[in-house]
Amino acid sequence: MADWNYEFFWKEILNQMIEELGEQEFSRWFTLLEYLGATENTISLGVPSNFYREEVKRRYKTRIEEKLKMVIEKDIGLVFEIVQQQPKKTMVQSNPEAPTTDTTGECKEKKEKPDSALSYQMTYRDVSSVPSAHTTTKRHPQLKADYTFDAYVIGDNNSFAANAAIAIAKNPGVTYNPFFLYGGVGLGKTHLLQAIGNYVYANAPETKIVYINTETFLNEYVDALKEKNMSSFKKKYRYVDVLLMDDVHFVQEKEGLQEELFHTFNTLYESNKQIVFTCDRPATELKKISDRLRSRFERGLNIDLQPPNYETRYAILKKKAESKNVVIPDDVLALISKNVSSNVRDLEAALTTLIAYADLVGKIITVEIAHQQLKDLFATPKQINMSIDIIQRVVADYFKITPDDLKGKKKSQNVVFPRQLAIYISREITEFSTTEIGQAFGGRDHTTAMHSCNKIRERIQTDPTLDSTIQSLIRMIKESNGKR
Ligand code: ADP
Ligand code: MG
Repeated sequence: MADWNYEFFWKEILNQMIEELGEQEFSRWFTLLEYLGATENTISLGVPSNFYREEVKRRYKTRIEEKLKMVIEKDIGLVFEIVQQQPKKTMVQSNPEAPTTDTTGECKEKKEKPDSALSYQMTYRDVSSVPSAHTTTKRHPQLKADYTFDAYVIGDNNSFAANAAIAIAKNPGVTYNPFFLYGGVGLGKTHLLQAIGNYVYANAPETKIVYINTETFLNEYVDALKEKNMSSFKKKYRYVDVLLMDDVHFVQEKEGLQEELFHTFNTLYESNKQIVFTCDRPATELKKISDRLRSRFERGLNIDLQPPNYETRYAILKKKAESKNVVIPDDVLALISKNVSSNVRDLEAALTTLIAYADLVGKIITVEIAHQQLKDLFATPKQINMSIDIIQRVVADYFKITPDDLKGKKKSQNVVFPRQLAIYISREITEFSTTEIGQAFGGRDHTTAMHSCNKIRERIQTDPTLDSTIQSLIRMIKESNGKR
């Protein structure tokens, strides 16, 4: 796929948008967008979270595409990707009046920043020429310098995984190999994965560390096939000391890629090289992958990340605010921690929004401002809850209990059985992993969800009526879903 450079046009669109929207609205939505690249007919933009992607699409996608058509004189579609961004740091550095980062990495006292349209336009123009805050210290080219163990808040939800990651980083290839880290989106998998790499690199820079997202791995594999260049592809991944492979669920349904990964795995494993995978679900739940690859994933240590509880969310926000050198009142942090419980990425997005707002209007953030600025984020129900919600409602109605009973802790048989059934149906008719389903059923963990599915499967064997009950429930669920 050839790369096209439309960045010049993208900047032109930004200039038009700032004029049309005004600074406040522009900064709210556009400072977080990042031009990632283009193909002949598409431009890819990075956004920090699912929430932003949906909002930006809803509000501006058509308008931007119309403008692109005017400027480039052909139809260009926008594609959004969720990526980790550092717009704040970039903005700070491109602005001479903003706080600077000293050599110890600590930020000096925060000052007011100018809020003219020009400063935002400058920010975009300067992005490529701005040195990152970390260029003075040696850093691995593929790893984000911020993704360190120091910056990672350890709570009940992730302590097992974080401690394993630290042990691996101290002794790669020796302690736990492979390490298979899984969990829902935005829970810190990539951060921990890269923290291993950063730690190893800082302590032993000669170590050959390769970080790769599985989607990129796939693209490189396809290119290598096309260009008949498999030997250099193989070399790149089979001669490394630490292979950090992110989002390995992308191998599902791709047989050739699985085969390649299987052999890469064997080569590395046999020579005691460290392999770490992240995945959005447990290895047992990967669909359409070969048994032999699945068994390789399961061979070492498999640990999941759970969503953080309130205290951990609060601690994460506090740490993030400190690292950005911004003081946010405790009651505002508490408000966000209470209302944004789905994942850490959305927590960060909330914080970034407030900081951008405070910068722009020069006001101290209060609970009222936070409520007003974050109302969309607070109100957005997670996609996951929307369809599982319906399953819960229909099953609860059918058994004359409430959805809260299904999510609650009651252990009486008249609740336990419908709960197991609703979990089983969720697993059958949605794409959610047991981790996500457990979460939607009152924050249970994936083993409980798996246990429920097994119980129902056993019961289907002995109770001939159960299957037809399930089928009629599924019909009702689908009908309700259609009416929404
Ligand atoms: P995932 O790969 O699981 O989708 P990421 O690793 O990309 O999630 O995390 C999303 C964001 O949340 C990142 O900016 C990361 O730094 C932050 N984050 C996640 N967990 C933590 C944590 N425990 N402490 C600090 N930051 C965290
Ligand atoms: Mg990730």
